[in-house]
Amino acid sequence: MPYPPFAKPSIFTIIAQVNSISKAMFVVKCAKCKTKLLKYRKVGKGKLLRCWKDRIVEDYTSKEGSFMKCPKCDEIVGVDAGAFFKMRQGRFTTHGSYE
Ligand SMILES: [Zn+2]
Repeated sequence: MPYPPFAKPSIFTIIAQVNSISKAMFVVKCAKCKTKLLKYRKVGKGKLLRCWKDRIVEDYTSKEGSFMKCPKCDEIVGVDAGAFFKMRQGRFTTHGSYE
């Protein structure tokens, strides 16, 4: 697994967390089993189409190849596209201050 879900956060993750305190924070959950998948710093309103890796504050998903999956029910919620994950609509729900 290239990104262990409970890896020790890097210094960059810690800086991102500090910088994101006053920003909009979203929790992304699996639409199927409601498992918490991500804590994400979202910029702007609208649907979460791309999940930028440098804005992910906490990552609970499992990874299989280029797929981002729910750790509980194995639903594929996103596909790795380099700097971001292309999110599959309808597979997840977002909960945040802009909704
Ligand atoms: Zn699930």
